[in-house]
Amino acid sequence: MSVSFEAPFLFLLFGNERALLLDTGATQEPADFPLRDTVDALIAAWLADHPQDDYELMVAHSHSHGDHIAGDEQFTDRPHTTVVGTELEEVQAFFGFTEWPTQVVTLDLGGRVLELTGTPGHHPTSVAVFDPWTGFLLTGDTVYPGRLYAADRARFGTSVEHLVQFAEARPVSHVMGAHIEMSRTPRRDYPMGATYQPDEPPLQMSMDQLRAVRDAARSAAKPGLHVHDDFIIASGMGPRTVVPLLLRAYAQRARALLPHRI
Ligand SMILES: [Zn+2]
Repeated sequence: MSVSFEAPFLFLLFGNERALLLDTGATQEPADFPLRDTVDALIAAWLADHPQDDYELMVAHSHSHGDHIAGDEQFTDRPHTTVVGTELEEVQAFFGFTEWPTQVVTLDLGGRVLELTGTPGHHPTSVAVFDPWTGFLLTGDTVYPGRLYAADRARFGTSVEHLVQFAEARPVSHVMGAHIEMSRTPRRDYPMGATYQPDEPPLQMSMDQLRAVRDAARSAAKPGLHVHDDFIIASGMGPRTVVPLLLRAYAQRARALLPHRI
């Protein structure tokens, strides 16, 4: 958060033959955010225990918003590396989707076969990834303990219905999104842009919480903010959603600038 308030979570999954980096964060400059060095060191450590030549890295994205792709350029000259494009057609072609978004496709890392499905709504390119090794369901910005921006309300609703069905058919241990914006106090989020969140809940959410997101999406037809205990659905990106969030963010910033004693 000292580098970017977005503070997105990134996932690096190792298989016997290749690794997947899901998302590259909100910061482009290696000097501020040495993602490539970090990933190279993690892969080197893994290869020390599992020696092999030409171990591949795939760099893909939960979706193509700027805070999930900004570090891509750090990987463009890396050997044995594929950086997946950010256009919908590129995403579909790389993963092998022919029936977007409900198809379930596989990505074999070698002894670790991930399953992916499309979850457009927050963004047209959103995908969810199930990792059978950990039981993690990686949901990007579609489901996480924070403000779920349903830019396309109808598609978001359809996608979370599909996501619950997808998850219920698999042994999901944790639902892992990409941000934390709630506090541990039910219904209370940190203001947009906050860089200090001392009372965060953990990232991982349960299947019950995932089902709660689905149920909430069913009744979030009205544009604006729909506040629930563990998440907020921001339905549409019109003024009813954006204005209260911005006002609160500015108010918070103004408070921070005031002298402590007046
Ligand atoms: Zn994000």
